[in-house]
Amino acid sequence: MDSATTLPFTLSPSTSPVPPQRRAEILANPGFGRVFTDNMVVIRYEEGKGWHDARVQPYAPLSLDPAAAVLHYAQEIFEGMKAYRTAEGHITLFRPQANAARFRKSAERLAMAQVPEDLFVEAVRQLVRIDAAWVPGNPDESLYIRPYMIASETFLGVKPAAQYLFMVIASPVGAYFGEEAVSVWVSDFCRAAPGGTGEAKCGGNYAASLMAQQEAKGHGCAQVLFLDAVERRWIEEMGGMNVFFVFDDGSIATPPLTGTILRGITRDSLLTLARGMGLTVREERYAIDQLYADAASGRLKEVFACGTAAVVSPIGRFRGHRGEAVIGTGAGIGPVTEKLRNALIGIQRGTAPDPHGWVERVL
Ligand SMILES: *Cc1c(COP(=O)(O)O)cnc(C)c1O
Repeated sequence: MDSATTLPFTLSPSTSPVPPQRRAEILANPGFGRVFTDNMVVIRYEEGKGWHDARVQPYAPLSLDPAAAVLHYAQEIFEGMKAYRTAEGHITLFRPQANAARFRKSAERLAMAQVPEDLFVEAVRQLVRIDAAWVPGNPDESLYIRPYMIASETFLGVKPAAQYLFMVIASPVGAYFGEEAVSVWVSDFCRAAPGGTGEAKCGGNYAASLMAQQEAKGHGCAQVLFLDAVERRWIEEMGGMNVFFVFDDGSIATPPLTGTILRGITRDSLLTLARGMGLTVREERYAIDQLYADAASGRLKEVFACGTAAVVSPIGRFRGHRGEAVIGTGAGIGPVTEKLRNALIGIQRGTAPDPHGWVERVL
């Protein structure tokens, strides 16, 4: 019964959308994740019945039973992706199939129903088409899309739920950080342990990272860096972004996918682009003490974080209980970081050719 790869969508969009003038004001300064579009997608799942009742409906609060499983045991997963408006006025998605595949793996890890990949992508397309007017035209802006799934079964026993809601909402967004290099706090807390959920995009991972994030803010840092949970030594990733290092021999490195870090689509895309530029690329473990030593000796030239929301963001400084490191001048964006960022943005924005077939036109 769960084999339907997609479903007919019932279109009952908002009859009182935000007026065009108000929408234009919002799009002039969207912020990040504050304002949502007029509509949302909701699709239901029930064991034995499968996915059904796919709707494009007005964006509105949900009505959930207070005993809904997600509210108690956090059976929730999500994705983050963007729709872009090209210079020609088309609307595109970047590697949506990769988000669909990762969502399926996250669902598997959280023992949730699997959303067929075609249904996932179709739901995203449906929302983007109906809310196309919300895709900003400014080159550093985009429509951030948040597909997610919650366990909606009313039941307080601990078991995988038999009912789920898959939803898609969207929010016009500007740049996540400015152009300036950010400071990063090296946390003593751990984000993920071997065998845990670090590789799944689940809300629980974020809940567990917030105290570290708060601590980072207290130390004047914008972001937090997590080390591995076993040796407390190997660099894993940021709270919500992967991390890359650029060395004085021109090579770049990023931590390997050992199961405790998120398989970033931005990470994967940058690895492909870097190899295409002829850079030496290593996916290998890098110890925090080595980072402090390499920053001091000048071997480590640039560090950046990457993810869909912030794209590529330079890191200027690390600070933690074991030391402090300034990367390069500690400010601005380094040449390799900038080259990689521009290559990725060029493809995403349709200003550069798309040799890997990453861009899907929606409108
Ligand atoms: C989403 C996410 C990333 C980045 O993944 P992208 O696919 O590049 O957006 C990295 N780390 C964590 C913990 C994440 O949740």
